[in-house]
Amino acid sequence: MKILVASFQCESNSLAKLHPQKHDFEYFRGDDIFQKLAVKEIFLEKGYEIVPTVYAVALPSGTVELDTYHYYAEQILDGVRANPDLDGVYIFFHGSMEVDEIGSGELYLLKQIKKLVSDKCLFAISLDAHANITDELTSYADIISGFKTVPHVDQVECQLRSARALVYCLENGIKPHAVTVRVPFLLKNDTLQTAYEPLKGLIEETLSLEAEADILTANLFLGHCWIDAPNTSASTVVCALNRERAEQVAKDLANKLWATRRDYRFLCEAELPEECVKRAMEGDEGRIFITDSGDNTTAGAEGDRTEILRLILAAKPEKPTCVAGITDGETVNSLWAARDGEEVSVAALGGLRAKVKSHGDILGWTKEIIGKSLTLTVGNVDVVFTEYRSAFIEKGNFDCANVDLLSYRVVVVKLGYLFTELKPFADRELFALSDGASCVELARLGLTKIMRPMFPLEDFEWRA
Ligand SMILES: [Zn+2]
Repeated sequence: MKILVASFQCESNSLAKLHPQKHDFEYFRGDDIFQKLAVKEIFLEKGYEIVPTVYAVALPSGTVELDTYHYYAEQILDGVRANPDLDGVYIFFHGSMEVDEIGSGELYLLKQIKKLVSDKCLFAISLDAHANITDELTSYADIISGFKTVPHVDQVECQLRSARALVYCLENGIKPHAVTVRVPFLLKNDTLQTAYEPLKGLIEETLSLEAEADILTANLFLGHCWIDAPNTSASTVVCALNRERAEQVAKDLANKLWATRRDYRFLCEAELPEECVKRAMEGDEGRIFITDSGDNTTAGAEGDRTEILRLILAAKPEKPTCVAGITDGETVNSLWAARDGEEVSVAALGGLRAKVKSHGDILGWTKEIIGKSLTLTVGNVDVVFTEYRSAFIEKGNFDCANVDLLSYRVVVVKLGYLFTELKPFADRELFALSDGASCVELARLGLTKIMRPMFPLEDFEWRA
């Protein structure tokens, strides 16, 4: 047996301005892809021949431009062209890659591969729980498994589940049946966590279904609300040994998921920015974090919005306060030559006078240094300007920027929920319902291409 393996991922945000460039992808070729993928042993154990191609994964960003998409997709397709006798294909996708002029990047690639291999070749894929499933996906993928955790901690298990199912089908000469049901609701991504009900119970149900002999995988996909595309919605996908069973279980799960649509809540105080700033100023907890959720760089936003910064400056805080960071290469570079302690005028803030506090670095997703940071002080407020988009997800990001996280009592970051690594430093967490490319208020996103009706934009009866 011969299996081609690849991974190509970028969670798109069609409201974000920055498109990922080729160099934004973490990229491995050949056998090096197994530094990042977990499926090698499963195929080797069976003595299968592996055709390793490409691992190309980028941080959430704007839509993927054609040139960038083809650059990586063609390398995977070259692997297929050189091995038209493939018995199986395994690809770890995100599931919400939106490509200019193409739409779903995952579907397009599967279609191209299908043209090059025999009808007997089986396709197995793994997807993020926030995948937007296209109606056609199950015509091209035989086995689909998605993460069962949000926040995601089961990426490895998800890969193994698809790979094992692929091996099982190849060994037993089975052509499985994958069925999807699109569920017409779209939820605020930040209200969905699998450790809590109602998702906890639904995920447990998918696990018991997968323990049944005729079901290979049973999945809930929550969708990704920041892509304005026809395939944007929640969905269920079931892969089973016969079609009727797959359909029945996918519909049943879809109805159960739909029934929970009013049951999702934020897990901390979630308020408009003005109220968050007010509460942060008045609160007497040791350290209060505000997350600027509409400008969440880990969800593809630029991190360049200054509304909350302006509210903080206007409040003239008595407590030491830090805003980390604001993406603004122009400010960093134009003021970089100023020494620490020097007074400067900040053009981006209407010529406001500030003192240079420190020069530092910013870290990329894989913790490598990707650019400079410049921290300026106005009264009791330190503002970390960053040369490029970055995310302050743990203390190490502050250390690198040469600011002491522990010295602040109010900290603003460009995130949705705080990452687990920051939680120990937060005595209180305020989730700011702010505007931007990752705004959680669906009605304010101006989506025009999604299927309608869509809960909660419309309230209606529905049954799978
Ligand atoms: Zn996700």
